[in-house]
Amino acid sequence: PTFAGLNLAEPLLRALSAAGYTHPTPIQAGAIPEVLAGRDLLAAAQTGTGKTAGFTLPILQKLAENPPARAGNGRPRALVLTPTRELASQVHDSVKTYGQHLEQRSMTIFGGVGMNPQIRALRSRMDVVVATPGRLLDHANQKTIDLSGVEILVLDEADRMLDMGFIRDIRKLIAMLPKKRQNLMFSATFSNDIRKLADGLLTDPACVEV
Ligand code: AMP
Repeated sequence: PTFAGLNLAEPLLRALSAAGYTHPTPIQAGAIPEVLAGRDLLAAAQTGTGKTAGFTLPILQKLAENPPARAGNGRPRALVLTPTRELASQVHDSVKTYGQHLEQRSMTIFGGVGMNPQIRALRSRMDVVVATPGRLLDHANQKTIDLSGVEILVLDEADRMLDMGFIRDIRKLIAMLPKKRQNLMFSATFSNDIRKLADGLLTDPACVEV
């Protein structure tokens, strides 16, 4: 298939051709239609498969298609959890690249840097937040971020997040989200713990494996 054949909108197609991407990778071809259709997703994918665009593109499109119910200062509509700051930064770079012709606002939130710049950024509209679990939980507990407007949750590299001991933080964060939302989970490996997390999080998920 082509990206246009996946029903991606014009502003995204322009960003993709500027990036030099002509055809979707298998994970993108599998994931994008399911996410656009509003389904939960369980994807088995390693780094290097193009998984980031596989969730970033349809999320940006869905946010652009459905204007928010109310103004979102510090109240993101999409939340991506990653195990490390490096991955958070990479995912955020993708959000910015693919979303360059859209109006969605995005930021990273991770530890090891000051809280205050993050708090200041959260005083304005923020549509997409890419975060590591610990620092995000700090913001949520201090109420410097409002998670009650999250429409789409992504757990990226879920297996690494569990290996790094983030499960308790992840569960606390999930409990702060609205019940009605779309959930996407990406993992390279599938241990019993990952399956348990997926069972509790996902409703009738589409499964994509590459
Ligand atoms: P990821 O697995 O998401 O880390 O992506 C791996 C690399 O593939 C990144 O450098 C992307 O920029 C690149 N990439 C993603 N999608 C495509 C595509 N459809 N065509 C060519 N390269 C891509």
